[in-house]
Amino acid sequence: MTVRTRIAPSPTGDPHVGTAYIALFNLCYARQHGGQFILRIEDTDRQRSTTESERMILDSLRWLGLDWDEGPDVGGPHGPYRQSERGDIYVEHANRLLESGHAFKCYRTSEELDALRQARRDAGLQLALKPQDLALDPEEQRRREREGYPYVVRMNVPAEGICEIDDMLRGRIEVDWAQVDAQILLKSDGMPTYHLANVVDDHLMGITHVLRGEEWINSAPKHKLLYEYFGWTMPQLCHMPLLRNPDKSKLSKRKNPTSINYYRRMGYLPQALTNYLGRMGWSMPDDREKFSLDEMMAHFDIQRVSLGGPVFDLDKLTWLNGVYIREDLDDAALLRALREWAFNEAYVGQILPQVQPRIATLSDVIPLAGHFFSGLPSISEESFAGVDLERETLLELLQFLTWRLETITRWDKEALLEQAKALSMHFELKMKAFLAPVFIAVTGSSHSTSVLDAMAIIGSDMTRARLRHAIEVLGGISKKQAKRFEKRYREL
Ligand code: GLU
Repeated sequence: MTVRTRIAPSPTGDPHVGTAYIALFNLCYARQHGGQFILRIEDTDRQRSTTESERMILDSLRWLGLDWDEGPDVGGPHGPYRQSERGDIYVEHANRLLESGHAFKCYRTSEELDALRQARRDAGLQLALKPQDLALDPEEQRRREREGYPYVVRMNVPAEGICEIDDMLRGRIEVDWAQVDAQILLKSDGMPTYHLANVVDDHLMGITHVLRGEEWINSAPKHKLLYEYFGWTMPQLCHMPLLRNPDKSKLSKRKNPTSINYYRRMGYLPQALTNYLGRMGWSMPDDREKFSLDEMMAHFDIQRVSLGGPVFDLDKLTWLNGVYIREDLDDAALLRALREWAFNEAYVGQILPQVQPRIATLSDVIPLAGHFFSGLPSISEESFAGVDLERETLLELLQFLTWRLETITRWDKEALLEQAKALSMHFELKMKAFLAPVFIAVTGSSHSTSVLDAMAIIGSDMTRARLRHAIEVLGGISKKQAKRFEKRYREL
């Protein structure tokens, strides 16, 4: 058997370090067994998926050196590797399950589903809806069919009993069937859900081992059942521990930068970041901290993954990056790294229109636009002395903006302007007054290039990191304040 592993990202946002972490372990597992590593794009959520996000994911993984053997860009014998191009395959497989009686058409409306759930809640029962709960009176079912009501295809699931899942790291996991609902496989628009598409593709693409985040454990029973219904062998499952913030909560962009774009813009070296991700829950047999991707592949053993949530610690990563810069780069390599990082036409080209109208000599560029080439600006409380706002309002403004920016799906100047407009109205401030503190937080000074353009260019995670930094510099937000802000933010 040839080992085949895969990474299956959904292109719905910035390229996440968690995706790179899971990709790295899948790649190492495949290579260690002389197998193949596949990249598949799971873009069945048509509303949230974007080609820009897909482009960034591919670009980031490649930057980290995590190359795949088959994928949407390189092709391969099991394509297409983008789920949005495989629609017919899923419909055909859903039909197979309908014919074999393992799935059924469900004509329930969302109001009825809410009522069914509420009734179960009131009765103190598990919320999972089973086929028998969803069944309509046969006459009504026929009427809705005849009249062409919208329907979804759902899978049959047992009402009770225990489902046993074998996990490569966790051994046998038991899940109570009572918690598992009659999962939707095909939505009313004919698009598959994650569960159907994922199982069908893993099978058709010959995937033998699925290493994925532990947040998917609860999906495993449904997947196991689907493999049984189709009469296929299930790949071996391995649920990896989730990356954590230093406070042990799940790594999230609210607390930490999670986008690979951020680490790139910040000037981390790809080999250092890949090395650091390899240290997440895993160690070399001799425990050394610094190792290359080739070394990791050569010594890889999945059983050395420890399940205690690995902490993604920025200070440690920064330390390791420094070691790489000092030990591995001669002058020529350092110059190359700087060029790749920011001193290149593509990046500088974005900045030129910002600086040209504002300089008299070329040497004005760095004082004016240094923030495009730095991390967190050196600011202090005094930097905000000219801002005519109460401390509480100032903090609230920066916090609200940070939260608002988390919701943006398309990161460009128009989208940023829209958010700034809405918030400036909320705070009853003219745009200029609203942007004044943002300006200082993002560019580190009160005289620089346009702040919204700067935010668009440095990217979402870097922008948010700078806003968070400004909040810290201003003394941070107390627990009480946070409660007040959250309440007011909800009322926005
Ligand atoms: N599309 C899923 C994700 O975004 C894939 C999960 C899996 O690996 O099964 O993480």
